[in-house]
Amino acid sequence: MSDLIRLSAADLADKIHKREVSAVEVAQAHLDRIAEVDGAVHAFLHVNTEGALAAAAQVDEQIAVGEVASPLAGVPLALKDVLTTVDEPTTVGSKILENWLPPYDATVTARLRAAGVVILGKTNMDEFAMGSSTENSAYGPTHNPWDLERIPGGSGGGSSASLAAFEAPLAIGTDTGGSIRQPGAVTGTVGAKPTYGTVSRYGLVAFSSSLDQAGPCARTVLDAALLHEVIAGYDPMDSTSINAPVRPVVEAARQGATGDLTGVKVGVVREFRGEGYQQGVIDSFDAAVQQLRELGAEVVEVSCPHFKYALGAYYLIAPSEASSNLARFDAMRYGLRVSGDGELSAEQVMSLTREAGFGPEVKRRIILGTYALSAGYYDAYYGSAQKVRTLISRDFAAAFEQVDVLVAPTTPTTAFKIGERIDDPLAMYLNDLCTIPSNMAGNAAMSVPCGLAADTGLPVGLQVMAPALADERMYRVAAAYEVARDAAQGGPLINRVPELEAIQR
Ligand code: GLN
Repeated sequence: MSDLIRLSAADLADKIHKREVSAVEVAQAHLDRIAEVDGAVHAFLHVNTEGALAAAAQVDEQIAVGEVASPLAGVPLALKDVLTTVDEPTTVGSKILENWLPPYDATVTARLRAAGVVILGKTNMDEFAMGSSTENSAYGPTHNPWDLERIPGGSGGGSSASLAAFEAPLAIGTDTGGSIRQPGAVTGTVGAKPTYGTVSRYGLVAFSSSLDQAGPCARTVLDAALLHEVIAGYDPMDSTSINAPVRPVVEAARQGATGDLTGVKVGVVREFRGEGYQQGVIDSFDAAVQQLRELGAEVVEVSCPHFKYALGAYYLIAPSEASSNLARFDAMRYGLRVSGDGELSAEQVMSLTREAGFGPEVKRRIILGTYALSAGYYDAYYGSAQKVRTLISRDFAAAFEQVDVLVAPTTPTTAFKIGERIDDPLAMYLNDLCTIPSNMAGNAAMSVPCGLAADTGLPVGLQVMAPALADERMYRVAAAYEVARDAAQGGPLINRVPELEAIQR
């Protein structure tokens, strides 16, 4: 195993730009690692060996003539299979798009390429990003590198697992209700959901358009910040894109790493504890809050009384938008078509295709959403959920009048076993209890590793939430906490992930 795979993206970039190592060598080291362990982890749905090596060679040529496209030029990355790529299939974890080769790159993909980031391949995910465990992928589950019998979170379990397995130093996720932060928490990695509208959704296969947001996944806060600045920015191709300058998150992460939070006010959300929360998670979280105090932060308790309605409202809004967005998979335009013996009507072809192409969770959401939007029920369900959304935004607004950032556990429990909750949708949905409010309000939120739970020995995530367009605040606090945690816990948590070499395919 090459030592290169253990380096952070920032350190890899530094070595590549100083020509101590070539981008091709770095890409090859990660491709070798994928070949070695991905049979056991299954983080990737597609590995683009040739494309990655060609992109890396191009970066090396540029560096040889003194051109460095970005601070991350030459660093490899794993891309969630929900973002379109012209040179690799985009399946969204679904049979309905099996082998679909998109005609264009997503804006996020294009920005990565322009920055010289080397895309290794596409990562596994719950079908159409619906799920919290990656078990809803039509291509089989991803396994958590901390314990291969456990889930890596979802929907972006492949992205986060690839980081924890040292298959990639950077990854991209998307977060509609927690799909960047929850996988980050349960795999001991960092995941950030930027403010809604600050990273383009052009070429991001839509699940719930008013909630979907792409963002960075990494093993350190600084790496996430570097990636954040590469992918963020106004895009006229996305009607919800905000035309505002990219937030200075790298500077904030560097400032935070000095370990001083004097003058920062941190609010602990009172509602995120109690029944359903694992003791080991609460204990790790409380210890993290104590560390924030020791870093100089002023910590107060705040109440967000409407957060308890967020989960219910989300499971009306997200399925409603999904039922509309997924109508485009009609057997005519994309991917799968079940056409029978040629005697079938267009409606029959559509129906058979959707029956065969969508998995059970996607069908459940389409039915739920179609019902919630139907005449006579629209006001009672969808309309009420939108009102709850406003109340949640107001809770955030009131809290951010008192404090700079809010903190909470990222998830109520550590990673559960594969299969444990698959037959109980409600138990699965409860994973998103702490992450959904920030999607509903559109503010920024991230998860940073917070140690191992004493009761299960598995990673816990500390969630830091910041107001919309103040993403830099969460990076500063997360970076300060990361330094303090590493000092207190004998080095980076990720170094304690089990050696996967021992595992045979
Ligand atoms: N787990 C949530 C859901 O199933 C969130 C998914 C996501 O953020 N994409 O809807």
